Amino acid sequence: MVRSENRKFKLNYKWDRGLDRRIYRSCDVISVVDSVKKMKKIIERYRKTGQTIGFVPTMGYLHEGHLSLVEGSREDCDITVVSIFVNPTQFTPGEDLERYPRDLEGDLAKLESLHVDILFHPQSNEIYPHGYDTYVHQDHLTRVLCGKSRPTHFQGVLTVCLKLFQIVRPHQVYFGQKDLQQCAVIRRMVRDFHLPIKVRVLPIYREEDGLAMSSRNKYMSEDEREVAPQLQKSIQLAKKLIAEGERRSEVVIEKVRGHLSQFPEITIDYVDIIRGDNLQTVEEVGSGHYIALAAWVGEKARLLDNGLLME
Ligand code: AMP
Repeated sequence: MVRSENRKFKLNYKWDRGLDRRIYRSCDVISVVDSVKKMKKIIERYRKTGQTIGFVPTMGYLHEGHLSLVEGSREDCDITVVSIFVNPTQFTPGEDLERYPRDLEGDLAKLESLHVDILFHPQSNEIYPHGYDTYVHQDHLTRVLCGKSRPTHFQGVLTVCLKLFQIVRPHQVYFGQKDLQQCAVIRRMVRDFHLPIKVRVLPIYREEDGLAMSSRNKYMSEDEREVAPQLQKSIQLAKKLIAEGERRSEVVIEKVRGHLSQFPEITIDYVDIIRGDNLQTVEEVGSGHYIALAAWVGEKARLLDNGLLME
């Protein structure tokens, strides 16, 4: 059963009057909340009873990658909050904000089946009301990798995450390794702002053919979808070269680029070898170094992938 204060949903919902559902856990209902004020009130109630709160921020159109984060939170924390918010400030003008895939009913069914406690699903003007004027700027980590082609993206990500963290007040937050740079910038913000939050990063969830799951995979045609696993294949090629003794980043990157350029559907944005913590490029591959890439597959899907090259 779904409880909601948003009466639009066709699902079987109820107005969430008693905010102490946790006490009646066996009901297994998910509360859908769209107002900041109400969300804060619910959280305050849970916090007062000393329960730990896990939080999974998403933009919806949920797949198993998202759900693995939800499961992580369910295992670790008493209460799991998921947000679905297609955050306008992290899209650069001309990007896919308007056509970003949405399926609220499908998402709700998935979250309900995992016994998520609360879905926070605010409208844009709830998060950015008229006159909103404050943004989180982070310097170095946001300029490299995706930051080169999406210069304002991480400012939007950091701003919305800080706002969501303030509203949900989680003890632990869950992010996916697929968005390696996002994980690094969030970790840095949590550290720099002394936020009392533990950041958990969980592995990349993949389709059977190796393609990293992404809401944007939907943008691909059948032909493009067939080629898309080559992104991971190129990462495996890099790992093989390292296993055979190659240490020169330049050589590995060149081979990866060479592999990807065989496929006319693929347009490389970047291929870099970096340190996982500070995202700095390295000339010689060592432990804790990742290969990270972004590429367009066709004209609509810009996809990310990465892999740890040495433990
Ligand atoms: P998004 O809805 O794309 O903003 O993603 C929400 C969260 O899910 C982010 O922390 C992503 O890194 C994570 N995520 C997206 N794809 C995957 C995946 N294939 N495996 C694990 N986590 C993922």
